[in-house]
Parts: sequence; structure tokens; C-alpha cells
Amino acid sequence: MPVEPVLSWRSFVPRTQTPLPSVLDAGPALFLTSARVGIALALRAHGIGPGHEVLVPAYHCIAMIEPVRFCGATPVFYRVTDNARADIGDIAAKCSARTRAIIAVHYFGFPQDMRSLRPLCDDRGLLFIEDCAHAFFGEMDGQPVGRHGDYAIASALKFFPIYDGGVLISARHNLSGIHLNSAGVSFEMKSIVNILEQSATYSRLRPLSMPLRATMAIKDRLWRAHKRRRPVPSGVPAPVAADGAYGFDPDSLDKRASHMSRLLTAIASRQRITQKRRDHYRALLAAFEGISGASPLYPDLPHGVVPYMFPLRLRNPDTVYYSLKREGVPVLRFSEDHWPGVDESVCPAAARLAHEVIQIPCHQELRARELNWIIDRVRTTIAAH
Ligand SMILES: *Cc1c(COP(=O)(O)O)cnc(C)c1O
Repeated sequence: MPVEPVLSWRSFVPRTQTPLPSVLDAGPALFLTSARVGIALALRAHGIGPGHEVLVPAYHCIAMIEPVRFCGATPVFYRVTDNARADIGDIAAKCSARTRAIIAVHYFGFPQDMRSLRPLCDDRGLLFIEDCAHAFFGEMDGQPVGRHGDYAIASALKFFPIYDGGVLISARHNLSGIHLNSAGVSFEMKSIVNILEQSATYSRLRPLSMPLRATMAIKDRLWRAHKRRRPVPSGVPAPVAADGAYGFDPDSLDKRASHMSRLLTAIASRQRITQKRRDHYRALLAAFEGISGASPLYPDLPHGVVPYMFPLRLRNPDTVYYSLKREGVPVLRFSEDHWPGVDESVCPAAARLAHEVIQIPCHQELRARELNWIIDRVRTTIAAH
């Protein structure tokens, strides 16, 4: 099931309508290997480090915190409300003489209140990093997403059929002081092979599938032979880009995204991505309307929002979530892994969100049959618990 990026011929069919804007319309951009690297680069460019505090939401993922720690700054967790909006009062209360920056996340693609956050940052002289990892596309107050922050970061691989790639954007600061190098030939190769393999696995490149499968089989055989020579530790979980499970790699700070990623991001049909994701979100809303045992976190899809996933709040999260996982339904929980100590004593609402809200994919490459299967499994499982 394609929760991860897959490539399909239709990804490139040009559309006629103008798509919604993206973070790339917000200002000049750097193409990095991941979005998390962008957080570290932005903090570093402003000399934020030891002795400084960075405000981060209690509803977070590790990938947002590691770059703060890498720079030597201290993350200070602010509260969010029950529907994952930044708690402006708590942010003001948590500001100290050491606070230098704040990160706010447009969870699942739904905008935070920029009319409160931007002035608060201006009043207190804080660097505002708009985390658009869930919002590559979208419009807020008539502006492209990412325009309000001093910097915006976005995770291209969460929206495009690519295997590596994040962007750092700034409409307010000069990015020309940040110099990037190639990530190297083997990284470029991996990027190509991984996306083709992923797409072949989900049979999205049918005309190519025979030669691709043969190539992948050879690759697997070579890889196994290689591993026999050099044993790898077992029990190491495979990286899952979509839930940010791989770590922060300081070596990738000055690395450019692969050519493959930059090419596909440039030529993929943005209209298709935005339209399909909105269509799938609406289908999910209709499917879960009035269901007992669950409620959509965002029961409306306003104009300008391009969702990353469909967040559904469950009444019996543990039984339902693990039962779905066992069946292979591609659901995730944001903030399931969080920074040590950031529990309900820091923010009860964030702890509830991390526990109760599952994300259901609304990826543009989901076929109707696949989406209907997911809906059926989720509905049946909720009804059974
Ligand atoms: C995934 C994610 C990131 C990091 O993006 P990468 O491209 O994986 O580095 C940052 N913030 C949020 C909210 C995310 O979900």
C-alpha cells in the first residue's frame, strides 16, 4: 500500500488547471537530503546554540528535536490544544531571556494561526521556523504556505514520488551563505534504485515491470552476497521515511538532494497531487461521518489545504490501532515516539493526540480499490471494539 512515495506514469500527466501554491512559491529554496537538516541549518545560520532555548510543540516527532540538540540549544516544549493548535498563551509564558527561536507545525497539512504566531515572534525577536513537513502545498491567508516563517522546512518525500529530499525556504533571509555539495555517486544510485524498486513493488510502472523485477532480483542477490561477507547487526529496524524513523545525520548537513529527487519534484504534476489528496480526504470524511468510536480531527477541508494524512481520533485507540497494524493496514501515529520526559505532565492534550489519533493515508497514488479496502478495514475494526 503506497503510504511511501511511489512513482506512476500518471504522476507526470500535465494538467491544465493551476495547482494550489507550494512552499517553493514562498521564496528561494535549497534542496537538501531531508527536512530535519533544514532546521539545523536555519538555527546555525543565526548563531543559535548552547545557552539558547528553542520553543517546540509538545506534539512533535524526534526528527524536529534532534537538529535543535545538534546545534547545542535546549528544546522547551510548549502546549497544543486538543485539536493540535499551538497554545499561544503557553508560548508567551514559556518565552525566557534565553529563547531564540520557535518551531510551529502545520499538522497533517492544516494551518496554524499565523496571525497570532508571526506578531508574537516579531514582538519578542524570535526566529520563526515554519515546519511544513506535512504541508508541502497550500495557501494561508492568501499566501503560499511557508511565507510567514523566517524559514520554512518541508519534506518533499512525503508528497513526491522520491526517496530523499527536503527543502529549506526563506522569503526573509539570504540562503546564499549555505553551500551544498553532492551527496555522492552511491547516494545518487540509491535514490534511483529505491524509487524504482518501491514503484515496481506496488506495480505502478507496469510497462517496465518485467525488466525492473529482473534488475531488482539481481540487486537483491548481490546485496545478500555482500551481507554474507560483512554481517550486519540484526534487529535494526528499517528506516521509514514517512514517520521520521531514521536519525539525524550531521554528515548530510551540507549535502544536496539527489538529481533524481530534484528532477521528479520539478516534473511531477502538482495539480494531480493536490487534487487527489483532497479527493481522498473527502472520501475518508464521508466514510467516517457519524461513525461511533471515532471522529475526524479536522471534519472540514478548507480551501487551500492539501492534506498529508487523514487524522482520525479513536475512542479505543490501543485495541483498534494494533489490530489494524496486525492486518497490514498502513496507519501511523504521529508523536508515538517522543522526546524523553515529554508526557502528559508537559501537555495533556499532546499526550492524548499521540495516543488517540491515527493517521490514515490519503496519498495521491492510492487507487480507489486500495482506499476502499483501508476504509473497510478501519470501519470494521472500530465496530468490533
Ligand atoms: C517528517 C517530519 C519532519 C522531518 O522531515 P524529514 O524530511 O524526514 O527530515 C519534521 N517535522 C515533522 C512534523 C515531520 O513529520
